Amino acid sequence: MQYDVIIVGAGPAGSTTGRECVVRGLSVLLIDKAIFPRDKPCGGAVSLRAAVLLPFDLTPVIERTTHAIRFSTSWKSRLTQSAKDPLIHFTQRRTLDHFLLEEAKKNGVTVREGTQIKEINFPQNRKKNPVIVRTDRETFRGKTVVAADGAAGITARMAGIPTPRWRGLALEGNIQPKGGVPKLWKNCFGLDTGDIPGGYSWIFPKRDHLNIGVGGLSLGKNSLKNKLEILMRAQGWHIADIEGLKSFSLPLRKPDAPLVKGNTLLVGDAAGLVDPYSGEGIHNAIRSGQMAAKHLSHYLSGGRSDLKGYQQEMAQTVLRDMDVSLQLFMLIHLLPLRLAERLHHDQARWPLICRILRGEAQYQDLKQGPAFLWTLLDYMLRPAAFPFVSKILRRLNR
Ligand SMILES: Cc1cc2nc3c(=O)[nH]c(=O)nc-3n(C[C@H](O)[C@H](O)[C@H](O)COP(=O)(O)OP(=O)(O)OC[C@H]3O[C@@H](n4cnc5c(N)ncnc54)[C@H](O)[C@@H]3O)c2cc1C
Repeated sequence: MQYDVIIVGAGPAGSTTGRECVVRGLSVLLIDKAIFPRDKPCGGAVSLRAAVLLPFDLTPVIERTTHAIRFSTSWKSRLTQSAKDPLIHFTQRRTLDHFLLEEAKKNGVTVREGTQIKEINFPQNRKKNPVIVRTDRETFRGKTVVAADGAAGITARMAGIPTPRWRGLALEGNIQPKGGVPKLWKNCFGLDTGDIPGGYSWIFPKRDHLNIGVGGLSLGKNSLKNKLEILMRAQGWHIADIEGLKSFSLPLRKPDAPLVKGNTLLVGDAAGLVDPYSGEGIHNAIRSGQMAAKHLSHYLSGGRSDLKGYQQEMAQTVLRDMDVSLQLFMLIHLLPLRLAERLHHDQARWPLICRILRGEAQYQDLKQGPAFLWTLLDYMLRPAAFPFVSKILRRLNR
């Protein structure tokens, strides 16, 4: 059998692409080297803006939903900002990804778990000949390929698609406080920026434990471990209390990195779509998967002669938002601590931040105030300035 679409990787990006493709009438094979349920290093925060993209309810896999964020600087000078409506759901990737994969299967996606890609042959004439995908078990034929194999994926490279990116890193683990989740964190999660130039630490409440972690775009593994110890001490916990400590890349694409070549598309982390400011990746994984499905459907039904529309639509939407997010990242980490703190504690902007978290507004909307100031900041903090800013932040981290 020849599939319309072969997807490598069944994380949120791959499962979403697959489900949305079959809903549009395409035949889909989804391959993952893991057997689900499987874990993935992640804080498990699912913003409302990510959840509302899905046409089904995530309640069965949500362990806690919070209405408040406790912003702090070096775990001191804290301020809790609360909202009337929910802001963030907390889950575990083992259950969320399994749930999303089951939804894909239910809709008709053919799935091969425990199957590793070995080789992909892309034909010279993509309209006439199929792509041949060889795995450690079987060989498959498809008209198109989607690389959804995450930050360490190999499909883009096999397709000859360069993936220039800045690599962030994050480290996370769990602790089980005696007596369960402390009252403070029952309806609130913690975000701290003071200790980590170019990064942040978090405390995320789950059903019966807390997920804690540190991450950022300008940090090495050793400095992450040091920062995690600071977090633990500040909370009165001991580093030995952490279970299942894991680190993994936060991939951030460089401007102009391609998302399409011939009949192959990149989605989610394989495309480097982590949000630079927040480190959130599930939202863009789902969103890019949905957009990819739309353009695959147009192409395979003959409505379009190629898949370039995907790159164009991403550039006008997701990538534009990521550029603003990168600017915010640079701004907040270059500002003196007191000023950055004032921005996080700003009551006037808080309702807008809630709307962004719920998907009702964009980062772009934060650019309020004198236009000349933003024009100047747009110039100084353009994406091309990131390597320079990153160097400064690395120095500050020593
Ligand atoms: C420590 C940490 C904490 C994070 N916390 C959050 C958070 O709280 N909220 C949030 O929104 N984002 C978070 N992120 C980012 C988020 O985890 C990713 O952006 C998200 O997982 C991207 O989804 P994806 O589907 O693109 O890739 P993945 O979820 O990585 O899925 C890729 C899949 O591809 C499969 N695969 C890989 N190679 C092959 C191969 N050769 N053959 C077959 N299959 C293959 C893998 O087994 C995997 O199942 C965090 C990241 C890190 C590192």
